[in-house]
Amino acid sequence: MVIVSTEGKRFTNEAAPYVNFVHDQLEGGHVPCWFVMDAKTRARYPFAQILPGAPIPKGFYDKGIVFKADSLDELAKKIDVPADALGETVRTFNEYARAGKDPEFGRGESAYDHYYGDPNLKNPNLDVIESAPYYAFRLEVGDLGTKGGLVCDEHSRVLRADGSVIPGLYATGNTSASVMGNEYAGPGATIGPSIVFGYIAVRHAAAEGGQEAAGAPAGKAERA
Ligand SMILES: Cc1cc2nc3c(=O)[nH]c(=O)nc-3n(C[C@H](O)[C@H](O)[C@H](O)COP(=O)(O)OP(=O)(O)OC[C@H]3O[C@@H](n4cnc5c(N)ncnc54)[C@H](O)[C@@H]3O)c2cc1C
Repeated sequence: MVIVSTEGKRFTNEAAPYVNFVHDQLEGGHVPCWFVMDAKTRARYPFAQILPGAPIPKGFYDKGIVFKADSLDELAKKIDVPADALGETVRTFNEYARAGKDPEFGRGESAYDHYYGDPNLKNPNLDVIESAPYYAFRLEVGDLGTKGGLVCDEHSRVLRADGSVIPGLYATGNTSASVMGNEYAGPGATIGPSIVFGYIAVRHAAAEGGQEAAGAPAGKAERA
């Protein structure tokens, strides 16, 4: 498969962690963009919780989430993307797939990419797009968390802007700044740290016996 802009061109490594993918999507203004696949892909792999070979729900077509066509030209017309550009993108991509290398975006070079790849292929993340019918799924963007929020120390204690601790105030999860900064290691990178830092916070609070909180001046709650 390839993901193309409304100009019919690829703009990033489609197998990258999804946060990185959306960063590139937003940076290039590619909202929406189109996930183009062929019949072979549909027959072999699950997609959006649709099992391989299972029909795409009618509602997806009715709502304009997916379009289907017997040729790439026809598909391009349906999604309002220049047909020559889409054709060229797929031709080039097929050359990469045959060679097992994506010189443009390095798809299929990292261990992360391979996790969802097909080990039977020359490159687990590259295969030719050539069997009709073709499908295009509209991709928007969505939130799964934030990268902002309260900055905490290693005990999950919320810090003031000057780096000092606010006694008795702990934070974890989406309300706190991500321990991974603006990166995302992959699935589990939000709930995992939330659980770990929640556990750390409770242990710290229990060890402190609530003394820090009790010692804080009444009515002086502060915002970090
Ligand atoms: C589609 C999707 C898929 C995801 N997949 C994964 C995954 O595979 N692995 C992973 O690790 N993470 C995943 N995430 C991210 C993960 O689900 C969230 O990061 C996590 O649930 C955040 O938990 P939280 O408790 O910090 O916040 P939330 O779950 O958002 O909880 C905040 C709660 O506070 C309540 N609230 C808000 N304002 C107030 C108020 N003023 N007063 C009282 N209550 C209030 C809200 O109603 C909510 O119940 C996914 C997220 C999405 C959307």
